[in-house]
Amino acid sequence: LKEQDIRSHEAMDRYLALVREDCRRLVASGRALERCACPACESSASTLQFTKDGFEYATCDRCDTLFARTRPAFDDLRTFYADSTATRFWIDEFFRPFAETRREKIFRVRAEYVAQCFGLDPRWLVGDIGAGWGLFSQELRARWPASRYVAIEPSPEQAELCRQAGLEVICAPLEEVGIHRGDFDLLVAFELIEHLHDPAVFMRAAARLLKPGGRLLLTSLNGQGFDIQILWERSRNIYPPCHLNFFNPDSLGLLLGRCGLAVEEASTPGRLDWSIVEGMIEREPGSAGRFWDLVARRTSESGKAELQDWIRRHHLSSHMQVLARRDGVR
Ligand SMILES: [Zn+2]
Repeated sequence: LKEQDIRSHEAMDRYLALVREDCRRLVASGRALERCACPACESSASTLQFTKDGFEYATCDRCDTLFARTRPAFDDLRTFYADSTATRFWIDEFFRPFAETRREKIFRVRAEYVAQCFGLDPRWLVGDIGAGWGLFSQELRARWPASRYVAIEPSPEQAELCRQAGLEVICAPLEEVGIHRGDFDLLVAFELIEHLHDPAVFMRAAARLLKPGGRLLLTSLNGQGFDIQILWERSRNIYPPCHLNFFNPDSLGLLLGRCGLAVEEASTPGRLDWSIVEGMIEREPGSAGRFWDLVARRTSESGKAELQDWIRRHHLSSHMQVLARRDGVR
């Protein structure tokens, strides 16, 4: 799998430029940025790593989470997502042209993972948080037709797409869902928690909606992952006000633990780390350092595939996946 299979570099550049403009507007509007403690362990001891578009990114001295320690207030962030040129562009130009490839290469793989973990259709209530177009639920429904699916999607535009796909829809952020308390057998949230103003509020809300013993499946960016560690402040995966939290498998476990959820399985099934670094080297030679320039030039395709495989197996990919279980009555 290559980065260009699921997103075009040109669209990504344009999207990031739009986000930067929105970000400048946000900072220039005088809306105060809030200073926050580590979103994983709540420690207030952190070390500044770099500043990007007016936001300070720091690592937690205790758990090594990389996070924006200055960030917009919850309502300002919500306004940004509801009403920004960048968000519209992301849906229409960035996601839409690649929706079918993403369905096949990403969401189908996840649905297969879930079906493999939990067997034949267990007739569960499944909640797809930040469902987007509902691609995951559709893929899982093809495998588990007797289960029931609820898309929890705050964007009215995307909620409508989920409705058209025949999913039940709650058009709200998870933090505001008032029904189905203690009803869900499985909740999933893909590429979502890196965006959150306060991930602990989100995790507690998820725990409340789950049955005791119910599962939460998350994917997110791993701050200790290959392309993020190599590119660091140059990483195009790190951009405010969207990507604010970069947990690592251990620190995400800390966060889940203090919200009543226990990790069952953590892995980094990423397939794009090398492709992302190589793409950056092609655009900006030298940006990843001398050694990786050499690898990009000299190593065979199979050698690069082996490298990616090694990164994945040793929990060093910047794409991580965690399956957690709600504590409580067994
Ligand atoms: Zn921490």
